[in-house]
Amino acid sequence: MDELFGKLAEKIKQSNKTYDLERIEKAYDIAKAAHEGQMRSSGDPYISHPIEVAIILVELGMDSDTIIGGLLHDVVEDTSVTMEDVTKIFGKDIAVLVDGVTKLANIPYSSRAEQQAENVRKMLLAMAQDVRVVIIKLADRLHNMRTLDFRTAEKQRNKSLETMEIYAPIAHRLGIRSVKEELEDLSLKHLDPVAYHEIEEQLALRKEEREQFLENIIMRIDARLEEEHVTAQIDGRVKSIYGIYRKMYIQGRSFDEIYDIYAVRIIVDTVLECYNILGIIHDMLRPIPNRFKDYISTPKQNMYQSLHTTVLDKEGIPFEVQIRTWDMHYTAEYGVAAHWKYKIGLNEKDSLDDRLAWIRQLLESQKESDDVEDIVKSIKTDIAPEEVFVFTPRGDVIRLPVGSTVIDFAYAIHSAVGNKMIGAKVDGRMVSLDFKVKTGMIVEILTSGGQGNGPSRDWLKIVKTSEARNKIRSWFKKERRDENISEGKMMLEKEFRRNLIAPPEEDREKFISDIATRQKYNSADDFYASIGYGGVSLEKIIPRIKDEFVRQYRKVESKISIPTKKPPRKAQGGVIVEGLDGCLVKFARCCNPLPGDDIVGFITRGFGVSIHKKDCINVKNALQNGTDSERWVKASWANSVKETYKSTLDILGSDRQGLIADVSVQLSAMHVPIHSVIARELKSQQTSIQITVGISDIEQLNSIISNLSRISGVISVKRAVLS
Ligand code: MN
Repeated sequence: MDELFGKLAEKIKQSNKTYDLERIEKAYDIAKAAHEGQMRSSGDPYISHPIEVAIILVELGMDSDTIIGGLLHDVVEDTSVTMEDVTKIFGKDIAVLVDGVTKLANIPYSSRAEQQAENVRKMLLAMAQDVRVVIIKLADRLHNMRTLDFRTAEKQRNKSLETMEIYAPIAHRLGIRSVKEELEDLSLKHLDPVAYHEIEEQLALRKEEREQFLENIIMRIDARLEEEHVTAQIDGRVKSIYGIYRKMYIQGRSFDEIYDIYAVRIIVDTVLECYNILGIIHDMLRPIPNRFKDYISTPKQNMYQSLHTTVLDKEGIPFEVQIRTWDMHYTAEYGVAAHWKYKIGLNEKDSLDDRLAWIRQLLESQKESDDVEDIVKSIKTDIAPEEVFVFTPRGDVIRLPVGSTVIDFAYAIHSAVGNKMIGAKVDGRMVSLDFKVKTGMIVEILTSGGQGNGPSRDWLKIVKTSEARNKIRSWFKKERRDENISEGKMMLEKEFRRNLIAPPEEDREKFISDIATRQKYNSADDFYASIGYGGVSLEKIIPRIKDEFVRQYRKVESKISIPTKKPPRKAQGGVIVEGLDGCLVKFARCCNPLPGDDIVGFITRGFGVSIHKKDCINVKNALQNGTDSERWVKASWANSVKETYKSTLDILGSDRQGLIADVSVQLSAMHVPIHSVIARELKSQQTSIQITVGISDIEQLNSIISNLSRISGVISVKRAVLS
């Protein structure tokens, strides 16, 4: 046995699975003979590649046929071995795999888009037949990406782009996390090396600190679980580099603001234990509100299941805790590959079938269109909907959200480029400024010499990114005060006319300067200027100005403008506030009103109307004191209430083990989303649980309260009163 095969054989031994080693060795011998004399760009003999691919497949837990397919995946394409040879020696099943992978090899097309489309279409077809073909292809791509350093710069860029756009999303949709993350990290290394190394450095800087932190936390959780007589495997992990990159560059967070760089994973045997452990964790460590996600009751599209919560340790360092069963764990790591059943059953309905249903849907939707580019479009919007990669003429990659224009591109390079922009060329051709960039395009921004004219106000309506919008606004704010004032005056006047706000001419100046003061501007001019550059949104403040106008000049107004037909009432957040159509509505945190409650509104200073329950203690106090009484307005629920509302419940119970789990299980059985859970042990041998859930009305809340009250050990369930 030679050294390379020894490496594979060792992996197979470690896997503790039964493999047909004899046939695997035969496949190796054939592949080795066939590739004899061929070299990789790295200088290694070619056979090292199929061996590494086979090793990846063993690591994924694939079967003997797949390992053999992996060893033979390049022989038909690159050597004198034919499909007939493979069929004769290994039988039809293996031949189908090798044939499938061979057909997925690149075929030269006239354009990159066309080639990509063709590849994707074939991949989907292959997947629909036997998903193992695509898993071999993913392993092939993974090893090629690991050895990409030996290729030319152009190859590196093209392969990385293709991997990021097609292969990683497919690995994701098949639920193979380990492959997906490694593919993304390897692609990012070539697509945005600067950011990649920055993150790598940040991670390295804190390596020791981090290991210590995780070790500590794991020890503490372990000790507590032992106390509670729960057996679980706990380990710590760090988010992938690309995962951090997405948060930093797409969501605009700084490295220190990313909550889930650290994650602790707890694996147990049963679903009930998952919820039980969730309760224990929330009891030990303070949970961050709104970071609890129950992917057990609502699995992700790729069948991922776990409970996620983010908690703070003693020093205030946030980290994510993922709780799952072993079954869920294998599915999370290996996805489709975890299930020893790779073909879509003919009439069977099972979870694998569901998992692959999207492939069939995609294929079906494409039957109607012959345009190959359509296929790429749909795979991109379906699989990786959020972002595009665009190039500068020098080959730098700029990453933008889908729908971004050439103006967004210009501002993404530098605000000075955006401010001096006079036009743009895409792939060498002039385009209009509202042209939307797509992945793979090369964009050149044309700028004027000197100061130029600066951006146009119309650009604010065209741009997609808030970065561009903010930069344009700040330019106007700085450069064009006079223009902003006159523009702002015009805009305000127009809104006044539209809303029939017409204070008498002699009061007009005072009316407006009063508004400006109330909006915290030093002068009416400052107020106009702010409207002019978009620093204040007229849409938001006009309802309040109108209200003020009605209050001051009510009699005058009622004489002149009683609309004959009442405009349809706009119900914001499902609430109708008398006299204030379309105003900003929020729900008071002190009493969290729900549809069905009697409610009143309070006109706040600057934040719309806040809705309270009529019997809220704050309402009673305010009305007794008589302060601000004119700011209370009548409010009622709209007929169609579709949204869900947050409601917080105080549950008092005995300190029975598993009480929190039972509450969680009951809520998920009722399909009630849980936003946060805070549990405390009381001195009186009792437990207090404060749980925030999303519900649609008071009736649902009442049935939740009555169901929770029936759980053994629960003493009382009440709607929480928050101060
Ligand atoms: Mn290959």
